Order: sequence, then C-alpha cells, then structure tokens
Amino acid sequence: MNGERAGTGIASSPARILSAAGAALLCAIASPVLAADPADTILVNGKIVTVDERFTIAQGVAIRGQRIVAVGNNADVLELQGKGTKVIDLKKQTVIPGLIDNHAHFIRAPEHEELRLDGVASRKRALEMLTGRVRSARPGEWIVTLGGWSEEQFTDDPRGFPLEELDRIAPDNPVVLQAVYNQSYLNSAALKAAGIDAATPDPRGGRIEKDAGGRPTGVVRSAGGVAYVAAQIPLPDMEQWLANVRKFVAGLNAMGITAWYDAGGRGMSDKHYAAYQALAERGELNARAFWTTIRQPATPEQVDKVLAEIQQHRPFQGNDYFENIGWGESLYQPATTNLLRNDFVVKPEDMREVRRIMQAIAESGMFLNAHVEMENAIDAYLAELEELNKVEPIKGLRWVLSHLDQVSDAQLARMKKLGMYAGLHSRPLIQGALMHKVHGERAWDMPPFKRVQDSGIVWGLGSDATAVTTSNPFYTLWFAVTGRMVGSRKVNRQTISREQALIAHTRSNAFFVFQESNLGSIQPGKYADLLVLDRDYFTVPAQQIKDIKPLMTMVGGKIVYRAR
Ligand SMILES: [Zn+2]
Repeated sequence: MNGERAGTGIASSPARILSAAGAALLCAIASPVLAADPADTILVNGKIVTVDERFTIAQGVAIRGQRIVAVGNNADVLELQGKGTKVIDLKKQTVIPGLIDNHAHFIRAPEHEELRLDGVASRKRALEMLTGRVRSARPGEWIVTLGGWSEEQFTDDPRGFPLEELDRIAPDNPVVLQAVYNQSYLNSAALKAAGIDAATPDPRGGRIEKDAGGRPTGVVRSAGGVAYVAAQIPLPDMEQWLANVRKFVAGLNAMGITAWYDAGGRGMSDKHYAAYQALAERGELNARAFWTTIRQPATPEQVDKVLAEIQQHRPFQGNDYFENIGWGESLYQPATTNLLRNDFVVKPEDMREVRRIMQAIAESGMFLNAHVEMENAIDAYLAELEELNKVEPIKGLRWVLSHLDQVSDAQLARMKKLGMYAGLHSRPLIQGALMHKVHGERAWDMPPFKRVQDSGIVWGLGSDATAVTTSNPFYTLWFAVTGRMVGSRKVNRQTISREQALIAHTRSNAFFVFQESNLGSIQPGKYADLLVLDRDYFTVPAQQIKDIKPLMTMVGGKIVYRAR
C-alpha cells in the first residue's frame, strides 16, 4: 500500500510520497462530485502529513470554500486549478492538521489580557518581560499572570518573586504573578487594590502569608488563596472582553491550535461564553471551541439543583465553531482529586453524589468528561460507572475520563469494556519537579502515555492550559515524546513516538469532540484546518519539537495566521 502507517518510524526513514497510482485513486474517489468547480486555494510541493488512517504523506491539497476537495500529488491537485485559484508553493515545508487540544480552559482565559510566562525557562527573562509590560501599561492597570508557569521551570534561579522586587519594578501598577494554582506573588499596589491587609482573614482553602509584625508578605498560598486573589482582579467591559478574545485566539492560531475541548473552570459565568458566542455568530471566531457545562456542587442539596439543570440541558445547539457538547469536568467538589496530593481518598458518601450526577447525565443520553487523577479515585469512579452501566448504559455515549495520571492496565481494560476514552495531559511540563516531590518514584509514570497507547484504548492528548500548564501544543508534543519539563529536566519515562503523539493531538481529539467527519486529518470532505510548519516535526532533533512554529495557520479554508 502507499503511504506510511503510524508507528513505522517516519522520523527515522524518509517519508514516502504517494505514488501516481495511489494519488489517482484518491482523485478518482473525489472527482465525480468535485471536478465541476475549480478550487479556491491549492497548496503544492509540500510534505503533507495527512494523519489519515494509513498516515499517508502527500504533496498537495486543494481547498474549496471551507473544505478540502482533493489530496494527492502535485499534478492531481493542480487539476482543480481554475482562473481564480490561488496556488501556494510550499517549497517542501511540512503541513499537518490543525492541532486540537482535548482539555483546555481557553474560554476563561481572555477575561484578562495576561502577561504569559509559558515556556520561559529563565527568571531573569521573566523579570525583563514584566519590566517591559509595566513600561507599556496605563497608570493603575493590573498586570496579571494567572498560572501557566512554576518556579521550578527557571533554570537560572528557581524561585518566586518577593514583594520588594515587584515594588521596585512596578511601584504604581498592581501586579499578580500566580504560579500554577499553588501561590500568587503580589506587589504592594496589588495588596492595596485587592484590599488585603493585616486584618484580612485567610480565605477558605488558602493562606495569606504574614510577617512577624502581622503584615502581608505579598505571598498568598494554596488553591483557595490563589482563587481569592484572582477574584479581586476587575473584569473588563464587553468591548474589551471581545478584544481580549480576538487577541487570545490569534495567539492560539500562532501556536498552531485550531480547535479545542473546553472544560470550563472556576468562577465561570455567562459573560465568559457570551464573548466567544458573539464572535462565532458573526463568523469571526478563528478557532473552534467545543465545551461542556460545568457546575461544581459541594453539598447534596446543591446536587439536587444540578440534577434539575441536567434534565433541562440541550447540547448541540451551536455550530462548528462554538458548540456545547454535554457536561463535564469536576462533578462534585468533595470528590475532586488534586494532582499534587497523594493522600486524598474519595469518601463513599461523596461518590454517591457523583453517581447521582452521572446517572442523570446518562439518562439524558449526554456526553460526559469527568476529572479523575489518582489510582484509588479512578477505582472509585469505575466502580460507580460499572454499576451505572447495568441500569443506564453509558457505552456509546463517548464518556471520557480526563487526566488519569495514575491509571493502571487493569483500569484501562475496565474503561475499554465500558466503551470509554482516555484524555491525557502535559501538566508535568511545569509541575513535573513538584510531582516528583509529592509522588516520588511514581511520578516517572505520571501520566502513563506509553501504557495508555499500548492498551489500545482510544485516547487523546491535550494540555489542561492555561493555569496548570503551558498552552503551546508543540510543548505538549515535545513533552509526550521526550518526557522533559520546561527547562529540559527529564521528569517522565512513559514517552511515545512522534507519530503516536501527533495522532493523539489531532485525529483522536476530533473524535472526542464529535467532529471526526470534519476535523483531525487532511482528507477530502473535511474542513481545511491545517498548519504549514517552519520545520519538519518528524526530522528535527527531539529537543526542537517545542520550538516548532507555524508559518501559516488555516481554519475552515481561511488563513488566520501568517508568520511575519
Ligand atoms: Zn480537570
């Protein structure tokens, strides 16, 4: 057969181009419907990594409207050239399908125009970036970084940011630098603007650090503390919010993201969704958001309310740019695990509430994505899911367990039996060193990419950005292939091949968001969502995978990003 198969090692052997016969076959399939009209755009002379079922490598792609109409060798796709067709010579550049993140919090992210420290491996550099941002800020403007970095990623000086240092750089602008979900570093202006002083009590689940004299030191610790600080930062008006979304999505396009599954998050309101929805309705949203509704009830009474909401919920009323696909993420607060706690045991009474919620979702025939990380919690969830399946079958509903940092072979077998899928994420990119402190030797296998890949379960790769890891999908691919965190320390030994990682970040994730007939590979009939890369993902040294950048990003046949 023509073309490459996944797992046969494109990285180590030159990619084979479709033979004339193979390409002719492709065109023959496409031609009866498609030959009549010329293409709008034709890409030729490239290395098109289609990520189709046979991992075919082609030379060209023809696009009409939003969709791909032909894939093959140069001559085949040029048959669709007409007077108005734009032909782009790829000059041997590599093209891959647009990357789909299967777990991100990008709908929440543009509530602030953040200073991001994603991938910044030097503390000195981080300070330079902060200084630059302060210089261009309006007086009193908040400068915030809500996660996406950790102290451990700084190879020159792995520590946080003391108050005096931040005050020197930013005497007049409130500054909040939040590390993962662990602690926030504030300057004096931020403490003042947030109303935090000697008399402020610790928020629930958090701690305001104070010196011997009782004055706040500028450090606020733990998830509850971090959330408390974030909630004090003023939200923008709708116009600014829309501008933030445009800028944020442009940033995703520049990194190579064309679609994602959005898990919602803490503090989400209708406003967060409204900005995206408005752009989607105007046809101005340049990436595709497939999201689930999130509620985080913490008592059985709150669960009662959520059950009524689930019964009323109607997913799939949007379009292929902005679509609610069901219910998800943390189902019941007291049963929610934390990656950096290895002593957490879910209680039977809390699992009863989880079961009530899952049963209501199953009765509605809806999709569910459930957050679960540690082995004992995965066992507890699977026990409920197996019982539930007996009374209200879930097989066929594409239910996903997300994160699965400690999933075992036996658990993967149980998931397969239930027709479930696995979502794995690149969080050790910034938390790897912390995970080794908390979990010891076991952290080497968290998450177990290779084990999951070898199990044969349908699984996908994503980030869980923006707070707990970086958003750049090439960092996620790099991590899955090398097991290294930002700064290059090796933290994971469950690495997989480049092909396996790419399939998990494209075609598999299209399936997760119910878009397998539209997205995930470069094939006739699918949307023209693709990336032209500045170097070949398959042949660059592994260490450089994180540095790959799109030269051009296309979504639905529209060029949404071009490198300058
Ligand atoms: Zn989660």
